[in-house]
Amino acid sequence: MELPSKLLENAVNEISQLPGIGKRTALRLVLHLLKQPQEQTNDLANSLLVLRNKIQYCKSCHNISDLEICDICSNVSREQSLVCVVEDVRDVMAIENTGIFKGVYHVLGGKINPIEGVGPSQLNIKTLEEKVASGNVQEVIFALSSTMEGDTTNFYIYKQIKDYNVKTSTIARGIAVGDELEYADEVTLGRSLLNRIPFETSIKPY
Ligand SMILES: [Zn+2]
Repeated sequence: MELPSKLLENAVNEISQLPGIGKRTALRLVLHLLKQPQEQTNDLANSLLVLRNKIQYCKSCHNISDLEICDICSNVSREQSLVCVVEDVRDVMAIENTGIFKGVYHVLGGKINPIEGVGPSQLNIKTLEEKVASGNVQEVIFALSSTMEGDTTNFYIYKQIKDYNVKTSTIARGIAVGDELEYADEVTLGRSLLNRIPFETSIKPY
């Protein structure tokens, strides 16, 4: 795409690096911003900078939080011994929306994916092991999407914690293989949490 200005080109290039945004959409967004009062662009740029500089993750579950310990982890009415392992913050939001889960979470920050160079050490797995080793966890629920990467991650974590006195389970698969949790409807997701099954019975060979 031939653009009449280097400045325009830079902005379009930056925005088109976001997922799901091609160069055409980026151009439309940039031209839209130029038509709005300058304040709007300032506010947008500022909110992103502040977000990036000040964002904190809960020290216990790695959920995004404005406090050192998030509202879920510090809520005394939540069962701290019931830990639901999820891939990212969006999954916490999806499960919270079901209103069914009364335990706490552990956000891994991704899935093991050798092809993309993501190994266990890049994910929040050590802190989960430590949590289990502390003896305060009764059950770990795996709620990763049922993809090969999700299954690999579940199995890796299972191997790390199986010798501790802890129950492991996985959400029942009302959710089709490969579906992301985020897109599962609330009823299905809620039911799959309630109908979770022992992890051992879910292991399948690849
Ligand atoms: Zn937390």
